[in-house]
Amino acid sequence: MADTFEIAVFAGDGIGPEITGPSVEILREMSDRASGYTLAFNDAPAGAAHYAQTGESFPTQSMEIAKKADAILLSAMGLPEVRYPDGTEISPQIDLRKALTLFAGVRPVTVRSGQRTPLNLPEGKEIDFVLIRESTEGLFHTQGKGEVSENEARETLLITRDISEKLFQFTFQLASNRKAAGRGSGRVTCVDKANVFRAFAFFRDMFDAEAGQHPNLSADHAYVDATALWMVQKPWDFDVLVTENMFGDILSDLGAGLMGGLGLAPSADIGLEHAVFQPCHGSAPDIAGQGVANPMAMILSAAMMLDWLGIKHDNPSMIADGAKLREAVEQVVAEGLVLTRDLGGTAGTLEAAAAVRERVSHA
Ligand code: ATP
Repeated sequence: MADTFEIAVFAGDGIGPEITGPSVEILREMSDRASGYTLAFNDAPAGAAHYAQTGESFPTQSMEIAKKADAILLSAMGLPEVRYPDGTEISPQIDLRKALTLFAGVRPVTVRSGQRTPLNLPEGKEIDFVLIRESTEGLFHTQGKGEVSENEARETLLITRDISEKLFQFTFQLASNRKAAGRGSGRVTCVDKANVFRAFAFFRDMFDAEAGQHPNLSADHAYVDATALWMVQKPWDFDVLVTENMFGDILSDLGAGLMGGLGLAPSADIGLEHAVFQPCHGSAPDIAGQGVANPMAMILSAAMMLDWLGIKHDNPSMIADGAKLREAVEQVVAEGLVLTRDLGGTAGTLEAAAAVRERVSHA
């Protein structure tokens, strides 16, 4: 009897439900065909639209569904016109990140041969690296609580041993898995500003200590400013990068830009027990309800979920299906025949998702 995995599904706001529907449909079909696993989906209402309707942005029951689930699939939450009485935005995904201590923000950056990118890639070069952004502390530590007086403003950057050690263990494990899967050279780069800030020298020391445990991988350091330059000049050189929250926030948008836009950028927020898989983009209210949103970032996030579950539960069938789903998206995007508007095409959300579905069913 195949293992059953419960997936909490947050369809969210704006384009969220439009991209969630076809993504879950693809996963459901893969699960129906698979002999090694079964997925069971559990809808979890939350977000700005839910708040507008009910006065609750994140019902306790939805948090319970998330905590109980084996993995969480989330589209995007928040709407600019729906806010709490104090004017702040509704973002249950951040509550989830904190409640479940999801310290590792995983942002793969992939550009396959034929895929449109603002870079002029040399013949035969492809981009395939992973940026890991610490997601619970760093310069976001005082988020919303910074001290501001008439003449001064202060925010605190926090780096803790506890989270950093977990982050680096996770990072080296990921690099090791990539190397074993033939996707990376086994090189891990710590991105910091250790030449200026003592906090980053502390960060780097803990990185070096973890690197010492992995003689089969190579480890080096890069300053964040130089990394931004190299991401444009020689992005094919990178394998796995790990960095602080704010640096990661900025570099991951640069990574999304290299891929051709937010509509192609997947992500995962991962902790020791739980993980949330969601596209890097927001709820895109400007195009919501039109059926034109690009579903690829969401589908790639779903592929990451299969891969993570497969590795965690030693389930080769899920790992294989994760790769199959990712490759199907990469092929459809590189061929360029069925692209949504944000990538210069004319296809709608359902047509783009159908192209992936078709590819997966024949893989
Ligand atoms: P947030 O702050 O919630 O992350 P944001 O303000 O950065 O959101 P997004 O909602 O990500 O903004 O949208 C930014 C731009 O990218 C918008 O013009 C939006 O239409 C476009 N966009 C975002 N996601 C997609 C998508 N999946 N398909 C097509 N266009 C998208």
